[in-house]
Amino acid sequence: MKSAFFNEEHEAFRSAVRQFMEREVAPNAGEWEREERIPRSIWHQMADNDLLGINYPEEFGGINADFFFSVVFLEELARGGMGGFTAAVGVHEYMALAYIHQFGSRLLKENYLGPGIRGEKIGALAITEPNTGSDVSAIRTRAVRQGDHFIINGGKTFITNGVYGDFIVLAAKTDPEAGPGGISLFVVDSHSKGVDTRKLKKIGWNSSDTAEISFDDVKVFRSHLIGQENMGFYYIMECFQLERLVAAITAAAGADYCLEITLKYIREREAFNRPLAKFQAIRHALSDLATELEAARQLTYHACWKYKAGIPAIKECSMAKLYATELAKKVADACLQYFGGYGYMEDYLIARAFRDARAGTIVGGTSEIMREIIAKVLIDEVEYRAAANVEGKKSAEPVSPPPPAEPEKAHETPEIELAAETPADTGEIPSGEPETGSQPETVVETVAPEGMDTPKTALAPEIPIAATNGASGDRDAKIEMEELLHPGVGGIQPPRSPAESILYSLPERFRADKAGNYQGIFHFKLSGNEGGDYTVTLNAGRCSVEPGLTGKATCVLESSARTYLDMETGKTNPQIAFMMGKVKISNVPEMMQFLKFFRKLPDT
Ligand SMILES: Cc1cc2nc3c(=O)[nH]c(=O)nc-3n(C[C@H](O)[C@H](O)[C@H](O)COP(=O)(O)OP(=O)(O)OC[C@H]3O[C@@H](n4cnc5c(N)ncnc54)[C@H](O)[C@@H]3O)c2cc1C
Repeated sequence: MKSAFFNEEHEAFRSAVRQFMEREVAPNAGEWEREERIPRSIWHQMADNDLLGINYPEEFGGINADFFFSVVFLEELARGGMGGFTAAVGVHEYMALAYIHQFGSRLLKENYLGPGIRGEKIGALAITEPNTGSDVSAIRTRAVRQGDHFIINGGKTFITNGVYGDFIVLAAKTDPEAGPGGISLFVVDSHSKGVDTRKLKKIGWNSSDTAEISFDDVKVFRSHLIGQENMGFYYIMECFQLERLVAAITAAAGADYCLEITLKYIREREAFNRPLAKFQAIRHALSDLATELEAARQLTYHACWKYKAGIPAIKECSMAKLYATELAKKVADACLQYFGGYGYMEDYLIARAFRDARAGTIVGGTSEIMREIIAKVLIDEVEYRAAANVEGKKSAEPVSPPPPAEPEKAHETPEIELAAETPADTGEIPSGEPETGSQPETVVETVAPEGMDTPKTALAPEIPIAATNGASGDRDAKIEMEELLHPGVGGIQPPRSPAESILYSLPERFRADKAGNYQGIFHFKLSGNEGGDYTVTLNAGRCSVEPGLTGKATCVLESSARTYLDMETGKTNPQIAFMMGKVKISNVPEMMQFLKFFRKLPDT
């Protein structure tokens, strides 16, 4: 076995792709770079060679191959000698189509995934806006529901495939008050009325078209919503892992190609009657770069392997993207140096490689954001949920298609009936997100420490709380909230922590009519100074809360008391807290069910 990651089939595929790139792409590089576009015909040729649906189901024209076939394909794209070409293909196949494949309805798959795999429709992904890139939650483009349509207004920028592409996977705010919990994704036809594109001039990646796009009252069918409304942020965070792997793979491959052409050059070029390859300064410098490159490649393969296996790989994907793209800049710079003056000439491949490598540390999450994500894992000990298994998702495809106008039922993510709020303290939140192909059963790996984490046993409530259905429904909401958050005021209740008070308000907020005969035991393990253990029992129309953990739990929720309080009061979006590892829920479907049986707390 030559490699832990690639078998003979992968290598046979590599040689076929390499031949394709050397025959159909590389000879045209100069022309495509000058024209700042790649021709339609090459998309069709790639599709004819089964290169545009490597990981997608056969049902839609893909070849359903394992992820390492994509790794091979992405590596061989470097042979085209154009970062722009690699970017255009990468965005179409592994970004625009990935969202539709993972979260889109059957209708969207038939109308965009299939044609995308056949090279008939080329996709773009539009998240970045003139005012925001790293902070995805701050986007301003709006989508407002109007009957069977959404009306979209706003602007996007730096969009790859935005000028000559056929459709745009667009992120827009559907609930502007809800921060990241108010973002939805849509498929928008690029030629729709109200879509206006302007081509941007770049210093590299010239063969890919990059657009500024404005949306002026663009009417989009409701059926063009990808997955569920307001779940877009989570879908983006999920797909960022793949995007970062693509960036890492292509950066390492681009650097490898740079090194290869430089080695050839230094063997041929002479100075002082000797080939450059004989000078120790150059030999050692290139040896160092080759060593670093091997490290970058193996780190990237390892991240790919984890991603493929469905093992949490946020840290490794971010490290691979950071290391490989930074190294690619360094390699291109050093290699250009050994070409001497020729390296600075437009006609030389190394000059283009130097310009193209510069984009890598900016696109798909900047190096600073990658470091921030790594620091969250390293220093803050945040752990993220497993990303959905790439191959597992295929088998999770629904067998029978749902009605065309609606997103697929199987892609619904459980709704948590609490308000949302922007969580981004790094400008971008890395994460896996609840698997959408099916209801997740096992969830967050650990609970992130927050404040003091020493568990404390709760005191028994001195005043029993009536297990009634909405007994306080007609009380003044603000007073109720005040009582909950500051118990004891007015001498009504004994002193309790705010989190504990909210837990003990559950029976008052219980909706017996909704719960019917439901039975369940829910353990709440709240850590920190104000935490404690509690059991909430639902039994045939009654709800009770008691201290300690009693009975066999249907579901266990673990978080800090602060996180629990923030979720209940709407300061933190539960889905994000869950995704960030701040809340651990042993049985998500049961918890979703549980939450439906309670009235929300009034807004603070
Ligand atoms: C050639 C090209 C193609 C692109 N293609 C696409 C595409 O197809 N679709 C798409 O949606 N976008 C695309 N982008 C946009 C790209 O993803 C963004 O440029 C990138 O995410 C950075 O966002 P920004 O430009 O708004 O920079 P900003 O977010 O404004 O950041 C500016 C600087 O501040 C730093 N910074 C920001 N936040 C922090 C922080 N918390 N800590 C430390 N430093 C921070 C950044 O790292 C950066 O150095 C493309 C960009 C380029 C150049």
